[in-house]
Amino acid sequence: MEKFLEEQYEKLGISKEVAAFGEIFDKELKERFAKIDEIAEYNQLKVIQAMQENRVSEACLTGTTGYGYNDLGRDTLEAVYASLFHGQAALVRSQITCGTHALSIALAANLRPGDELLAPAGKPYDTLESIIGIRPSKGSLAEYGISYRQVDLLEGGAFDYEGIKAAIRPNTKMATIQRSKGYQTRPTFSVERIGELIRFIKNINPDIICMVDNCYGEFVEVTEPMDVGADLMVGSLIKNPGGGLAPIGGYIVGKEEYIENAAYRLITPGLGKEVGASLGVNQAFYQGLFLAPTVVAGALKGAVFAARIYETLGFPVVPNGTESRHDIIQAVTFGKPEGVISFCKGIQSAAPVDSFVTPEPWDMPGYDHDVIMAAGAFVQGSSIELSADGPITPPYAVYFQGGLTWYHAKLGILKSVQQLLDDHVITSIPV
Ligand SMILES: *Cc1c(COP(=O)(O)O)cnc(C)c1O
Repeated sequence: MEKFLEEQYEKLGISKEVAAFGEIFDKELKERFAKIDEIAEYNQLKVIQAMQENRVSEACLTGTTGYGYNDLGRDTLEAVYASLFHGQAALVRSQITCGTHALSIALAANLRPGDELLAPAGKPYDTLESIIGIRPSKGSLAEYGISYRQVDLLEGGAFDYEGIKAAIRPNTKMATIQRSKGYQTRPTFSVERIGELIRFIKNINPDIICMVDNCYGEFVEVTEPMDVGADLMVGSLIKNPGGGLAPIGGYIVGKEEYIENAAYRLITPGLGKEVGASLGVNQAFYQGLFLAPTVVAGALKGAVFAARIYETLGFPVVPNGTESRHDIIQAVTFGKPEGVISFCKGIQSAAPVDSFVTPEPWDMPGYDHDVIMAAGAFVQGSSIELSADGPITPPYAVYFQGGLTWYHAKLGILKSVQQLLDDHVITSIPV
């Protein structure tokens, strides 16, 4: 490592020893990183092509107020998302408050009383439990007479095709498939595997609407779920496609009819997509999308780097350092609470914002155990920015994601190793 770099790391609290340890993997991963860059290059071109085809102009960067009729920027951005992700239409709005909200809209908009929702690949993300009514909640789909059926993955993570076939009823209207593992230990599904599952379902009944929760998956591969037969694809703008610049928002891409339903649900029947002022967010949405492929590449490099470092230190990691990647999340299992706490402290201390804050486990609403979070973000809760959280419960795993730049992700991981050393959670590093 160059002296100027080593000295600067030292100013940020990284010992020579830890910096040298990181250097081993930085060098080792050059080829892997080149592959990540190649995917980013492809996706960058794809984004530019979609912007050019839809004639994004300077006028698109300003917004409307009030009702938001004729919001050129908003309407053009939705056309860009539709082209980019190969859907017929899209809904991309600041009025979609988060990823959970986007998923809720897509489901509630396209299901009617008496319909059944199928989860063919196991329990969806925690926050969907209240939406579906798995956990009883006011306003859930269950309260509107929409039933739910779930088929778990087989041991080893394969789809239970027989179980899925048996679970499909005449009233099965929609299937919800989550690409990312979220905060579970199953592997993330590749786009290819999602395609296999969709083909199987469509073979039984082509009318079943297949929706993919694409959170954390955008731009990780060269294909996206719409390319393999999904009817709807949903995500959050404070994750991958917002590129770190979107201050809020969610998107839904898919078949025209389903997007129209979603717009009627989000806004109101009769008004739909025509209203919804973009206020001042258009420019951030466009510029964030433009930057997203390289931002995602940085986050991916950080995830792979973390996997290599922590597996070398002897901790179980998912995915491991050589596996293919289908989302930006990295899990590290420490086996003891001190590991989770020190890791999160290290990540926090690397942040550009709130670096001086010490994260502590707290009794977060909606969880039945304490959770510790590290987030020094420009946008509150943004998890395309460097962030980590760990539930204080066995197996004491921490979930790490994001980093708007590779260098920041690298610093965060080195700081986490330094913190583990300083707190004596680990006693040495194998240099
Ligand atoms: C983050 C996430 C969500 C929910 O998004 P929020 O913006 O936090 O509401 C849903 N599904 C998956 C897989 C996610 O990672």
